[in-house]
Formats: sequence, C-alpha cells, structure tokens
Amino acid sequence: MWQTPEFLKELLLAQYGPELTAAIESGFLCRRPSTLRVNTLKCTVTEAEAALRGANIAFERSGICPEALIIKEAREDSLRSLELYSEGKIYLQSLSSMIPPLVLCPSPDDSVLDMAAAPGGKTTQMAAMTGGRASITACEKNKVRAERLKYNLQRQGAGRVSVLVCDSRKLDGGFYFDKILLDAPCSGSGTVSPDRCEFTEELYERSRRLQVELLKKALSMLRPGKRMVYSTCSILKGENEDVLKKVLPAAKARIIPIPEDAFAEIPRLPTQAEGTLCICPSGLYEGFFVAHIEKI
Ligand code: SAM
Repeated sequence: MWQTPEFLKELLLAQYGPELTAAIESGFLCRRPSTLRVNTLKCTVTEAEAALRGANIAFERSGICPEALIIKEAREDSLRSLELYSEGKIYLQSLSSMIPPLVLCPSPDDSVLDMAAAPGGKTTQMAAMTGGRASITACEKNKVRAERLKYNLQRQGAGRVSVLVCDSRKLDGGFYFDKILLDAPCSGSGTVSPDRCEFTEELYERSRRLQVELLKKALSMLRPGKRMVYSTCSILKGENEDVLKKVLPAAKARIIPIPEDAFAEIPRLPTQAEGTLCICPSGLYEGFFVAHIEKI
C-alpha cells in the first residue's frame, strides 16, 4: 500500500500535528473528479453547459467562480474528445489552481507579469478574466513547456500575451508591472498521490531557494501600491510562510488578507502568515497555498 514519503510525513507532523496530518494524508488518497474552466474568450458558460448536456456528461457548478465546472463520473479522456475541448472553449484545470488568478483579479488596463507560466492554465484564465484586453507577459524557463504554453494560448484565443522563454530571475530590471502572478515551482507537496509523487528532500530544498529568489525578483518589478500573488501547490511552510517572512520585510511589501469568508467552501489548513490561504488536499481540492501581497 502507498505511503506518504517519510521526509514529507516528518515535515507534515512537525507543522500540523498528527490529526491534521492524517486528514492531509487521506486527502492525498482521494480520487478527485475532473474539473474544467469555461474559456469565456471563446464561449459562454451557458453554451458550454449545453454542449456537455448534449454529450451526456453530467456536471455541477463550483462555487468558486461561475466558469468552474465539476464533472461527474466522466474521465478526462472523454472531455478531451469533445469539440469544446479541441476548439479551446474549455480548459481542464483543478479548482485549487483557479484560485490565484481569482485573488489577483487583473483588470483590462493592467500590465500583468506571469513569472512561471507554462502550461498556461493561469495565464489563459487571466486573459479570459480581462476579456483578452490586459497586456500579459508570460515567462517560462523550460523550452518544451514554453511550446505547450504557446499552443494553449493560441488554442484559447488569448491575444495580448507575449511569451518570454527565459529565467524570470534574469528579466531586465527596467520592467515594471501593475500585477504579478508568481505561481512558483515547488515540491508539489499538496498534490502528491499514489499515482503522482515527485516529492524528494532535494526537490524541496532546491524549490525553497528558488522561491526566495523569484519572490525577491517579483517584488523588484512590481510598481509601488500594486499587488501580486505568490502561490504554490505545496502545503509546507518552508515553501510558503517562511519564503514570505524572508522576503517581504526587506522588499517593503505586506500581506493583503484573503477574507476568511472568500471561497467559503474550500477546506483550509492553518497558516503561520495571517491572511494567507492554505488549501487542505481533499475530495475536490488539491493542496495549494495563496498569498496576496502589496508593495508599499
Ligand atoms: N502557472 C502554471 C499554470 O498555471 O499552468 C504552472 C506553473 S508550474 C507550477 C511552474 C513553472 O515554472 C514550470 O513550468 C517551470 O518550468 C517554470 N519555471 C521554473 N523555474 C523558472 C524560472 N526561474 N523562470 C521561469 N520559469 C520557471
């Protein structure tokens, strides 16, 4: 029987104690339903729902945003065979990963930087949220993943997105943005499962170092008074709260609290940085961490 990697279990026990660790571990074992986001650049929610009904695919709406649908029973393969999918009218995306753009809430007149963008779930979500009007720079270091990002942008009709294939730590110091999303590379500790577990101590330590560098860089490119989101699919404070504590004071930035009653249906874990959101792995949600930050 599959077991949580030993080093991860030690970190979870130290941070959350035995009861919450047991809840997290049962979340790791949950088989979550497929979920999708309707791409409003190409189709309305009503049209997408009608097409799903026409294909006999049962679904329900999620409370997190009107575009998020939870598919009952059907597997991702049958969704991928739909015209809705091939035409870019829907994007298969976990509910948790829709939260960072919802918190960032870009406007059409914002210049937005997505610092770790591929395969583009959140870039295309931000493009759709702004009716395709915001100017978005999407940065991705990995060349193969950047090709996937370009393909997804094209298929979803997300114009006004410039892709930079580079290390976002090395972006030119002269660039400033109104909104920044740093969906940082991480150990994936919130998304481990018997089918997918890349967690290692080495990856965890490497991720922590990179996250600090990326967050410092992000804040150096954010205009004063403007906001960014730092997110990871890790539930470990070493990749989340500790990173914020290391970087925010010197960068003159502060946490903007995500209201307790926002996303009320989401199961939360306690966090050590007030106002941040840590999602507990569960039947509907992957583990995720989201912090809303303002540069003073
Ligand atoms: N935001 C993406 C989405 O919603 O589809 C997922 C991003 S994934 C968590 C992190 C991405 O960051 C990976 O594609 C990885 O290749 C990229 N990455 C890692 N280090 C980077 C760096 N220094 N600069 C830019 N991208 C980086």
